[in-house]
Amino acid sequence: MADPIIVIGAGQAGASLVAKLRALGYGGSLLLLGDEPVLPYQRPPLSKKYMSGEFTVDRLLIRAPSWYEEQKVETRLSAPVSAILPRDRLVALSDGSMLRYSKLALTTGSRPRTLPDAVGGNLAGVFTVRGLADADSIMPIFLPGRKLLVIGGGYIGLEAAAVASTKGLDVTLIEMADRILQRVAAPMTSDYFRALHTRHGVTIREATGLDALVGKEGRLVGARLKDGTRLDADLAIVGIGIHPNDGLAADAGLIVENGIHVDGQCRTSDPDIFAAGDCASFSWRGVRTRLESVQNAVEQAEHAAAAMLGAAGDYDPVPWFWSDQYDVKLQIAGLNRGYTDTVLRPGKRELSQSVWYYRGEELIAVDAMNDALAYGIGKKVLEARRSIPKAAVGDPSVELKTWLTAS
Ligand SMILES: Cc1cc2nc3c(=O)[nH]c(=O)nc-3n(C[C@H](O)[C@H](O)[C@H](O)COP(=O)(O)OP(=O)(O)OC[C@H]3O[C@@H](n4cnc5c(N)ncnc54)[C@H](O)[C@@H]3O)c2cc1C
Repeated sequence: MADPIIVIGAGQAGASLVAKLRALGYGGSLLLLGDEPVLPYQRPPLSKKYMSGEFTVDRLLIRAPSWYEEQKVETRLSAPVSAILPRDRLVALSDGSMLRYSKLALTTGSRPRTLPDAVGGNLAGVFTVRGLADADSIMPIFLPGRKLLVIGGGYIGLEAAAVASTKGLDVTLIEMADRILQRVAAPMTSDYFRALHTRHGVTIREATGLDALVGKEGRLVGARLKDGTRLDADLAIVGIGIHPNDGLAADAGLIVENGIHVDGQCRTSDPDIFAAGDCASFSWRGVRTRLESVQNAVEQAEHAAAAMLGAAGDYDPVPWFWSDQYDVKLQIAGLNRGYTDTVLRPGKRELSQSVWYYRGEELIAVDAMNDALAYGIGKKVLEARRSIPKAAVGDPSVELKTWLTAS
């Protein structure tokens, strides 16, 4: 029998890739390898409905267990890959076994940045949220009245703060930069979320560096900030960004550049090895880019599957992303990288607004808060590679719909 296509990483991208291979008619053998003990699952609800207790594990699974049998996709879970030997087309598992592949895909995702042990990163009670195991270990102490310190005001930190304060924890979030969401959003979006969290009782401290976490008998009891402030804490969630899991690729001699370097076909520097999702960097509008989103994991993996079967054409997405905090849905279309101007557009409902990003006169991204219409229109305009004048966006009496059809 011919050697299988092997996919390393049983997550969002891995699941999408194998499904697309089958949907496109690939009838050969297919093996999905994962280091976690669970079939591929969605991560976004971990910091939202799973940690709040609203979702159980079976709601997280991307596909039912029976799907893998029906589609003849062999899965091996709790099976970390320790090396790739491209010259021999072999994959080495950490249990010592070797598997031969015809083609290989890397969908290894990313891992959270952690705090060094020297500042207390190793204390009991200090967590990151990446996988089910993380959420499961947080939940038993995620209890009303507990003091939670969130380190990092990005989306994961803010979502954890929202779910915790809704559950009755006493939450303080610290952000080293001047403002929350500084890396990813304009000041208007930061202001909106700061006000939202403050209304829900979360204490947000910006421009505040962590000096060290304080432990007692190995367990977190508090924190010391750079300005000398001391805080009590029963648990801490660290949300300070992620690293792509590109070590296997680098060790195998593949080009790595902030993630596994792939071309428009999702092909690495080895023509028989592909990569997609959080772990892969590709050229987007001329700049090497790594996207950390479900949309990218799914669409890039599907593109990789097609390319593995010989399809041509470059991967050229219009990125989109969402975040849920309290009763606010944030939807983002486009990438605001290199923006020069922003325009705020009030929405029609209470708490709804959108922030439009321009590079010169060109619309490049939209953040929409509880404003699905603004998001939908912005996304369609971006997909059509068109723009809407700033004056129209800034005037709430102008119906933006007209710009969908305007030439
Ligand atoms: C808490 C949380 C909330 C999020 N919220 C949102 C959101 O609201 N919207 C959004 O768009 N995105 C969100 N994301 C991001 C989104 O979940 C990721 O971008 C997406 O999961 C990436 O998919 P992936 O397949 O590349 O990686 P993953 O889904 O992480 O899958 C990679 C898999 O590969 C495994 N693996 C790694 N190395 C090996 C190895 N050597 N051998 C075997 N297996 C290996 C990993 O353990 C993992 O199971 C969130 C992420 C988290 C953690």
